[in-house]
Amino acid sequence: MCGIIGYIGKKTNIQKQLIDSLKTLEYRGYDSAGIAYVTDKVNIIKSKGKIANLEEKIDREEQGCLGIAHTRWATHGGASDNNSHPHRVGKVTIVHNGIIENYMEIKSLLEKEGYKFKTETDTEVACALLDYLKSKNIWNNLEVIREFAGYIKGSYALGIIFDDDLDTLYATRKDSPLIIGLGKDENLIASDVSAVLKFTKKYCLLDNYDIVKLTKEKVQIYNKDLKSVCKEQLEVNWNVEQAEKNGYDHFMLKEIHEEAKVLKDTINEYVENLDSFVDKMPDMRKYDKIHIVACGSAMHAGLIGKYLFENYPEIETTVEVASEYRYKKVFYDDKTLVILISQSGETADTIASLRKAKEDHIDTLAIVNVVSSTIAREADQVLYIRAGVEIAVATTKAYLLQVAMLMLINLKLMVEREKIDSSKLKEILKLLKSSPEYVEKVLADEKKYFKIAEKIYKDEDIFFIGRGIDYAMSMEGSLKLKEVSYIHSEAYQAGELKHGTISLIENHTKVIALMTDEDLALKTISNIKEVKARGADVILITTEKLDSDFEFVNEKVTLPKVDSYLIPILAIIPLQLIAYQVAKLRKCDIDKPRNLAKSVTVE
Ligand code: GLU
Repeated sequence: MCGIIGYIGKKTNIQKQLIDSLKTLEYRGYDSAGIAYVTDKVNIIKSKGKIANLEEKIDREEQGCLGIAHTRWATHGGASDNNSHPHRVGKVTIVHNGIIENYMEIKSLLEKEGYKFKTETDTEVACALLDYLKSKNIWNNLEVIREFAGYIKGSYALGIIFDDDLDTLYATRKDSPLIIGLGKDENLIASDVSAVLKFTKKYCLLDNYDIVKLTKEKVQIYNKDLKSVCKEQLEVNWNVEQAEKNGYDHFMLKEIHEEAKVLKDTINEYVENLDSFVDKMPDMRKYDKIHIVACGSAMHAGLIGKYLFENYPEIETTVEVASEYRYKKVFYDDKTLVILISQSGETADTIASLRKAKEDHIDTLAIVNVVSSTIAREADQVLYIRAGVEIAVATTKAYLLQVAMLMLINLKLMVEREKIDSSKLKEILKLLKSSPEYVEKVLADEKKYFKIAEKIYKDEDIFFIGRGIDYAMSMEGSLKLKEVSYIHSEAYQAGELKHGTISLIENHTKVIALMTDEDLALKTISNIKEVKARGADVILITTEKLDSDFEFVNEKVTLPKVDSYLIPILAIIPLQLIAYQVAKLRKCDIDKPRNLAKSVTVE
């Protein structure tokens, strides 16, 4: 969500540098884009829509070696040229990610001081505030930023250019992501490291309220009291190519095809052998209740976790949407563990939920992909999934790994609660180690899923049904389809349909039924027959063990013969590939679906 890049350094074709870097942040989701660059003055070019629109307006050769650029995901004011960033007021130019919550209050204060506003954004108000503080002529630029922080409620990552210091790039952050890229004779600010990779692999992280002054040769970082601070220099261990498509038409397809590999990387890290597994997983003996808090697909992974935790180690588990959890009355005590799941580790609502638990002195455990992200740093304990960079907005491989990680946690809980002996544990760990092979097998049936996509891509309403864990997987299958194909779809507990929603089933309504849970299979069959009797076309996802000559099924996917413990990581793959192909047939913008952002860094 929103991308910021700022550059100062030896390269002189600044517009080209900014545009090319912005493209690497495109995956985060946006609706307009803009740049500001310095010649003998600050110049601004911006445009609604895709970066390609902005690109038409720029001069790739024009000289300049300092600039800031932005992809906007509108929160205050529609997506328009005018509302796009950068914003400039008086002698200050900024790009901003986040939300200034008290912008109305500050706006009326500034209006009284004579400021007039041209856009509907909160960002223009922030920019005017910086200009106002500067106009008092009592603070230098660093002090102006420090003072600014005292006025603001909300979140921000800011790239700032002051007219009286056109050789310096300033930046600061609070609750929105921003990193510093450390190059040779060039330095950068960016929302994430992917944007600085073509300049440097070295970077450092910023804490809330840090203020940074970047010149071509030097990066100076200060805390909120303007005390100079030293940051650990980090290095990225993946390269630009890894962030590219590798011959696949879309990142989403590439990332689905990486699932076997990333699963192997993740399992191998935690399951070298029995002892190392027990040591590497957190000690959870003291907990008798688990809250899983997450958003979107991560929340759906959490639903699988709930099913596992309640059925195997028998520990009471609730799954909560982070945007609700952060504001609701929560009942927990010192025997409660809060598990936060977020691919980016920067999901604003999940961060807020984590902080809420911490304020109440409740133990927290994070499952994240991005190393050293905010959630990873702030949680008491962190388990990393090793998905690598995930570019497609709709998550696939990270979701699969979140499920796999919950399976590992489940095993550890079983060990601690003596629900499993060491020989059985060994057997399951061995099974998990072999799971990438089964993922490959499921992926190999891609053509079959694509044929199913052909049967459904013209529909406008599709239902997913399942019971128990199959319902949890249906939720994710349905979300994936909605996200990338824009087809309306709903996931229902198979037994619940008849309590209302079955009225929507008519001739040839497509129903994707998941039936992998052996204990509930007969019940699910009855529910499938109910929709069939009302004219539905049924696509069944089942296992080899449960498969039979079902006369009521129009299409069928049979997962390979495997222990049922592995099913949650296999059953989602056909659903991801069906969603992908449906979106492709509908000519959708698969990797960057409308209105969506990869890393949801605003509330
Ligand atoms: N709140 C700001 C706006 O709507 C920034 C949004 C963003 O993070 O892209 O302009």
